Amino acid sequence: MNGNRTYGEVYREGAARLGKAGIEEAALDARLLLEFVCGTDRNTLLVHGDRDVSGDEYGRYSGLIERRALRVPLQHLTGGQDFMGLTLLVNEDVLVPRQDTEVLVEEVMKQLHDGMRILDLCTGSGCILLSLLHYSNDCEGVGVDLSEKALAVAGENYERLREARPQMKARFLQGDLFAALGSEADERQDEGANGSGEQFDIIVSNPPYIKTDVIDTLMPEVREYEPAMALDGGADGLVFYHRIAKDAGKYLSGGGMLFFEIGCEQAEDVRKIMEEVGFREIAVVKDFAGLDRVVYGSWFG
Ligand code: GLN
Repeated sequence: MNGNRTYGEVYREGAARLGKAGIEEAALDARLLLEFVCGTDRNTLLVHGDRDVSGDEYGRYSGLIERRALRVPLQHLTGGQDFMGLTLLVNEDVLVPRQDTEVLVEEVMKQLHDGMRILDLCTGSGCILLSLLHYSNDCEGVGVDLSEKALAVAGENYERLREARPQMKARFLQGDLFAALGSEADERQDEGANGSGEQFDIIVSNPPYIKTDVIDTLMPEVREYEPAMALDGGADGLVFYHRIAKDAGKYLSGGGMLFFEIGCEQAEDVRKIMEEVGFREIAVVKDFAGLDRVVYGSWFG
């Protein structure tokens, strides 16, 4: 440890270490970690590269660089990920929100009106539901996940975002897809057509959709550090699309819509799954890389 290293030197050392470890965006990650430790921004390297880095900062930075070299995702080290212009808490209990998923949120937003009720299945960090609520008025949302630990992250994100928008209305429920709604409604004893009394205008989900066999081939950051249960869509990757589409109609009001994020080769399969259970006006939307990423359709009962 050396209290006299400059910011620029420390950055170059970190970038070199990550480069040697084979990290794809070594320079970027080295800079972002240094900014995280020192509470600086991107201009600091350009304008104040000769400022001192304290021994304490250098020690913490070196520790983070070594963990990144071991492929721990950058977002697990900083604890944050920007999504739809919001900074969300993330950790190893949730999938790190992807840019692809912003395409899903934007498609839902085109159909979202004041006062609508939204159900987000497999909510994880809560990124989809919370950004929809953040950018709308008087909507109400329910986020469901099988993982208690994921829901703790979603709950924390909700509390943080609510500081800026106290009128936000979300509930997070633990359970297996729609069954999570059943148990809560049972306690309230207001059963409706689906047995839970809950109806939604929009159901949205980014479910696990990677084929089980493919998980071992993913990059180490994903394979070793992100929750397998957020990725594994069964042998054909389609298990959750079948399960969600089959029951979604019971929970949608007339004209309600179901939105899915999909893997880029799943559009035709998911379109067929939705068609077969009675969804209409089905559309496929591409992401910024030109790959199929979202499928949605409407429910007319
Ligand atoms: N898009 C994620 C990935 O590439 C997978 C997300 C999912 O399974 N829902 O790792």
